[in-house]
Amino acid sequence: MQEIRYELTKTPKKKPAPGDPLPFGTIFTDHMFVMDYQTGKGWYDPRIVPRVPLELDPAAIVLHYAQESFEGMKAYRTADGSIQLFRPDRNAARFHSTHDRICMPPVPEDDFVTAVKALVKTEKDWVPHQDGESLYIRPFCIATEPHLGVKASDTYKFIIICCPVGAYYPTGLNPVKIYVEDKYVRATPGGTGYIKCGGNYAASLISQETAEKLGYSQTLWLDGVERKYVEEVGSMNCFFKIDGTIYTAPTVGTVLPGVTRMSCIALLKKWGYTVSEERLPIVDVMKASKEGKLEEVFGTGTAAVISPVGELRYEGEVAHINDGKIGEVTQKLYDTLTGIQWGRLPDDMGWTVKVC
Ligand SMILES: *Cc1c(COP(=O)(O)O)cnc(C)c1O
Repeated sequence: MQEIRYELTKTPKKKPAPGDPLPFGTIFTDHMFVMDYQTGKGWYDPRIVPRVPLELDPAAIVLHYAQESFEGMKAYRTADGSIQLFRPDRNAARFHSTHDRICMPPVPEDDFVTAVKALVKTEKDWVPHQDGESLYIRPFCIATEPHLGVKASDTYKFIIICCPVGAYYPTGLNPVKIYVEDKYVRATPGGTGYIKCGGNYAASLISQETAEKLGYSQTLWLDGVERKYVEEVGSMNCFFKIDGTIYTAPTVGTVLPGVTRMSCIALLKKWGYTVSEERLPIVDVMKASKEGKLEEVFGTGTAAVISPVGELRYEGEVAHINDGKIGEVTQKLYDTLTGIQWGRLPDDMGWTVKVC
């Protein structure tokens, strides 16, 4: 990557004061990272500039055919005031695999991490200080060529924006109610379920709305072929503890390979738990619940870290999990991961990367 060019704002915004609410994804920092691509020329002009609306041709391919990729990661402030990232190389690698699938030119993985670090360093005073708060980082790439024929674009923009965000559960870790979707599907073999692209989310909104109407906060997706095996919860991977064994869906093309998921599996194995990545039928989950063997259910993802599930509804039947209380493994994973991320615990796994 060429050297990053800096054009800093002369009118910085007022930052939220300590204790101000930071609703997810609504408050943005002063700057963004931008880099352009053109076929034959490659990536060029990496820059950190004031965050302003984009100028885009109305025929830009992204607006019509959704050639778009994104990532989600966070910068954490530790007790000594320094700022760190959590496994940014994993996000860089996943961004690469997303681009391969939707015919976008890859951003070199080192450049991805360099760009994230440079922007976070520029915005370091926006990284909040309160417990559980962080700077959410959203790298994304859009196809900008004006062209109404269906084809891969010849021009792109890679952009990174940031938001200070509050603790996902301001009142503490609380079990959520989950609706098991038996009509719509999120992903099918050969499709795009394993990558982070905007199109996947447009297709999932209808289920989220159904769940909310029934009083549930998120959807649990079943596999797209038989609607039989559990796959993911909303935008999180999902874990089930049944009779001592911990199950999570295999990442074989329809499940997003979450960084939080892989970190949980590594910790669980280190602690001596049996982790199974075999496909798990939803009827086995409901049966385990009836037999009193469904011990814990939780979702994993960067935004919430770990999200305990207190209730599952499948075809009108309801499973209550652990009397609506947070399970022991759920709590231990939450404490350990957040401990490493916010620097309260030693990072034995070598997962954190210091920014400044
Ligand atoms: C981003 C995402 C996840 C979680 O991935 P993390 O890397 O842990 O944040 C899980 N499922 C879907 C569908 C996602 O988009």
